[in-house]
Amino acid sequence: MKKTHIKTDLPGPKARELLARDALVDSPSYPRDYPFVMSHGKGAEVWDVDGNRFLDFAAGIAVCSTGHSHPAVVQAIKDAADRFLHISSDYWHEGQVRLAERMNELSPMKVPVMSFFAQSGTESVEAALKLARYVTGRGRFIGFLGGFHGRTMGSLAFTSSKYTQQKGFFPTMAGVTHVPYPNGYRPLFAGADQGRAVLRYIEDVLFVHNVPPSEVAAILVEPIQGEGGYLVPPDGFLSGLRELCDRHGILLIFDEVQSGIGRTGKMFAAQHWGVEPDIMTLAKGLGSGMPIGIMVAKRSIMQKWSRGAHGNTFGGNPLCCAAALATLDLVEREYCANAGKVGDYFMKKLQRLAGKYPVVGEVRGKGLMIGMELVTDPVSKTPAKKLCDALITRAFHKGLILLSCGQSTVRFMPPLMITEADVDEALELLEATLIEVLVSERPPVSRGVAAG
Ligand code: PLP
Repeated sequence: MKKTHIKTDLPGPKARELLARDALVDSPSYPRDYPFVMSHGKGAEVWDVDGNRFLDFAAGIAVCSTGHSHPAVVQAIKDAADRFLHISSDYWHEGQVRLAERMNELSPMKVPVMSFFAQSGTESVEAALKLARYVTGRGRFIGFLGGFHGRTMGSLAFTSSKYTQQKGFFPTMAGVTHVPYPNGYRPLFAGADQGRAVLRYIEDVLFVHNVPPSEVAAILVEPIQGEGGYLVPPDGFLSGLRELCDRHGILLIFDEVQSGIGRTGKMFAAQHWGVEPDIMTLAKGLGSGMPIGIMVAKRSIMQKWSRGAHGNTFGGNPLCCAAALATLDLVEREYCANAGKVGDYFMKKLQRLAGKYPVVGEVRGKGLMIGMELVTDPVSKTPAKKLCDALITRAFHKGLILLSCGQSTVRFMPPLMITEADVDEALELLEATLIEVLVSERPPVSRGVAAG
């Protein structure tokens, strides 16, 4: 039987009341697109306070990896809470040690690794930047246009997916130089291999004219660019970065905050290309919704900073560690493979949709990290920003939770436990929304000219 989605106008009466209260007391800085006021969730389904049901293909910005309130994760959190809520990272507890051991087993690095615990993606990135500066004694970094790494002053210095994230906050951390991220759909350089072109730009232009490589501590890169548009780099790009870093004694940091923990059908996205970073940052999907981040580094590097060089109060919180251990069990056992399998199914269906609607310029991604870029027409490839915004909002009104990325890309990042039936349901809502939006956004046909 077909499940119903929306029973009230949106926002419904209870949601409206809460939104009015919120407007007086919550920061207006949150980049909220539409008024979803959550009541509860289960798997890939969420309900609002007025009893409307939605299919969640955003998962709290790629966080609820095991689905909403997975019983095994909830039980692990409850068990941990019964024991103690907090002790601080100045002390030891088994959950934190077990999670660090688990990272050592799972890590894409072939050498032993150590973990630094934080609460969010941005703090994991800050820790990575500090470690890189500390151990290399170098001050500069290279980041990528379109990259997103967080909103604190160090990570913000790299973040460049939208200028609104920067506007009003200058100066951020000094010493960051941005280079283009390879984009085969919108090439900036001549030639078919945009990855190779970017590597040559760094080596032959940047290092020759502006940035002494001997002063660069690290290159910070997303193995698949997330917020910037779900861009999958061409083969050879990450391995080329690895070679370039090795040649100049530069550390390579992979930000797997969004792409890690099974999302792309491998535990870490960079494993699709078999490239090892020196440092890796994690958060989002790691705790199934509990706030946890980890900066993982080769032991040979992490061992170089000394007591007191970096720390925090909440790192290694016992509830978060318990949630992460339960999440990793589920992802490793089942959901990573499921993301690969259902992701392939989803991708094929989206490609078919692209064949039907020329506004779909490109569908790209890996596993359940999929982007669908909308363009005004396939020749000019002008980003169809208005159309994309309208699609996201209208999809919500139909019962499908989505977010955008880049300028006009719809991103799909559902929980990793979804089934092909969930994909079919989402696609039905998506196509119906797309048709509606195309009709309402189409320029009016001029009247008054009699048909000949
Ligand atoms: N790095 C990447 C790749 C991200 O996608 C994000 C958030 O979207 C961050 C870092 C920052 O994470 P947080 O919002 O938890 O600080």
